[in-house]
Amino acid sequence: MTGLSYENYEKIWEEAKGILKEKIPNSTFEPWVLPITPAKENEEYFKKDHLVLKSDQSFGVSFLNQKYLSEIQSAINLVCGENLPVNLIFVPSNVKKAPKKKEKPSEHIVLMKEQIDNLKQMQSFCALNLKYTFENFVVGENSLVAYNAAKQVSEAPGQKFNPLFISGSVGIGKTHLMQAIGHSILKNFPDLRVKYAKAEEFTNQLVESCLNRQESTQKMKKFRDKYRNVDVLLLDDIQFAEGKKRTEEEIFHTFDALFHSGKQIVFASDRPISSFKNTPDRLKSRYEWGLMVDLLVPDFKTRVEIIEKHAVRSNFEISKDVAEFLAQTFDNNVRELEGAYNKVSAYASIKGIELTVDAAKEILGLKDGSKKITPDIIIEKCGEYFGVSSKDILSTSRSKEVKNARQTAIYLTREILDMSFPSIGEIFNKNHTTILYSYEKLKKDLITDRTLQTTVFELEKLVRQ
Ligand code: ADP
Ligand code: MG
Repeated sequence: MTGLSYENYEKIWEEAKGILKEKIPNSTFEPWVLPITPAKENEEYFKKDHLVLKSDQSFGVSFLNQKYLSEIQSAINLVCGENLPVNLIFVPSNVKKAPKKKEKPSEHIVLMKEQIDNLKQMQSFCALNLKYTFENFVVGENSLVAYNAAKQVSEAPGQKFNPLFISGSVGIGKTHLMQAIGHSILKNFPDLRVKYAKAEEFTNQLVESCLNRQESTQKMKKFRDKYRNVDVLLLDDIQFAEGKKRTEEEIFHTFDALFHSGKQIVFASDRPISSFKNTPDRLKSRYEWGLMVDLLVPDFKTRVEIIEKHAVRSNFEISKDVAEFLAQTFDNNVRELEGAYNKVSAYASIKGIELTVDAAKEILGLKDGSKKITPDIIIEKCGEYFGVSSKDILSTSRSKEVKNARQTAIYLTREILDMSFPSIGEIFNKNHTTILYSYEKLKKDLITDRTLQTTVFELEKLVRQ
């Protein structure tokens, strides 16, 4: 399948669409499959001997990748009569548009950057987050060994440390480092196939493949092809598989199949292998076979650097004081540190205020003697803001104001109090899937809706006052 021209790709995609129309419901096909086009040879994301499909519908791309990628791949293969790897990616159509309002350029830049980052995350070249590269990883004492090992693996996949096992507590860069290996290999060895998956996804797909007995042989084959027909397998969060007999057995055989054909495997886990009490010894010994590296919590200096690097990337000027304050306050989890930075920088940009340590404290609700926030306070403030009562919010009323107040209150309860969806469900008299849906919807709308951003920030401030 070499040397295909754009016209060939266009024809292949046209035919594949005909097949997919029968397989994908119209409600998905029309809005999300129809706008897709193949990448052209002169476009930056064009990849030789791949069919790179692009669309400017970010949600559609994410959805299709999750639900219908194997159908799309099968349709392409059917048209071609052989395997032509497909990548479906999101390419924004208007990112270069100039800001309309000139008064606050920084505000525009920060939000655009954030939007692009967010949307880029949905891109799924091998399900990798585009942000998680070696260039964006700040190396400190805590990560030097792991970083070097990851670099070496990416320079000689399957030849150096196999498997590479990365362990370390939550939120300190395991996934980032693991995906950086994937990015680097894709860049340096474009012919290699890289697969990233979390153990949970692996388990779910395995269960799904075993479900229907009649179809299971075919489905199992598809499942195995997915994980064994690769050159590099990045399997994340494998602590999830511990004690799940069927999953661990499948990981074991996948490992053996890949290892014996010289393919690279990288595992990551939130826990050390010594704590895998329910994992069979034969799998544990595979995990330990190559090199095991431990990521530690970054020290203060590295945490400050992480913030500063993040700020440069999002085009935001942060003072040393504020970076140090954040690094001091969030000292054991980089994800939380980044979350805090995102919050204070976005707030300061939107409000057009200078970000001082005091302002950061206030935004994060860390002011000394600040009052205790409860769901009741959140509901009351949201009610007042939208002109409805707390009782209305907790009722089944579907009037526009009540719905807006309820959705914002749900979002803020989750964001500020970090409560679980079932617990929020109990407060709002709704089941947890409704709460989850409502939260996710608002979160997604926030990316593009400026009025909503202001509302949510105003309300958060009122709640914290
Ligand atoms: P883990 O997989 O260990 O739970 P992640 O890899 O998801 O953690 O990291 C959480 C967040 O922190 C990510 O956004 C990641 O980019 C960032 N991060 C972690 N360590 C670093 C680092 N050393 N340099 C830059 N960013 C980092
Ligand atoms: Mg992770």
